[in-house]
Amino acid sequence: MSELADRIDALLPQTQCTRCGYPACRPYAEAIAQGEADFNQCPPGGTVTLRALAQLLNRPEKPLNPRNGLAQPPMVAVIDEVRCIGCAKCLPACPVDAIIGAQRFTHTVVAELCTGCELCLPPCPVDCIELQPAHDPDGRSIPTPTALGELQRRGGEFRRRYESGLARRRRETEERRALIAAKKRQAGHWRKPGASS
Ligand code: SF4
Ligand code: SF4
Ligand code: SF4
Repeated sequence: MSELADRIDALLPQTQCTRCGYPACRPYAEAIAQGEADFNQCPPGGTVTLRALAQLLNRPEKPLNPRNGLAQPPMVAVIDEVRCIGCAKCLPACPVDAIIGAQRFTHTVVAELCTGCELCLPPCPVDCIELQPAHDPDGRSIPTPTALGELQRRGGEFRRRYESGLARRRRETEERRALIAAKKRQAGHWRKPGASS
């Protein structure tokens, strides 16, 4: 991984929303570093990130590419628990494990963990998830960060959640593989000698 990609990634807001056209913030950072993507494709980063990227890359500032969406204040997903049918289809879509709930039970979004990426909306079969402006614990709406430090602080938390979710998914995949392999070995052990497979 290049040092430039690391520095670009450190400026991105880490919502992992895919609006830049890449599957997460890190691949977009690598594409910019390799000259394969322009630096104005991240709507959640807004003007603050655009300016910081222009400075880092020593390029003139430019507006956000409207094809990637519009900048907006921090948002969070909210589930209408009356309409939620507990299907759990939103759970694997969340890149930061911000949704809690079990199959056949109402699901809830933990607002402090939600990046507002919107990735849980399409899988919901009853459209009971909506995005609302984010609020702090005292109920005040969280304004669009105007300082890079604030954006990076939130981004650092989102990145930690995203990476720990990735590690958990990898571990679960390995455990499933090991279980399947053990079952196959057991089936082979019990197969009668000379029986055709
Ligand atoms: S936050 Fe920006 S860089 Fe990260 S995935 Fe979304 S659009 Fe791409
Ligand atoms: S709850 Fe939805 S909007 Fe919030 S981080 Fe998870 S997938 Fe994104
Ligand atoms: S996908 Fe929609 S209906 Fe299914 S658990 Fe999630 S919020 Fe509830």
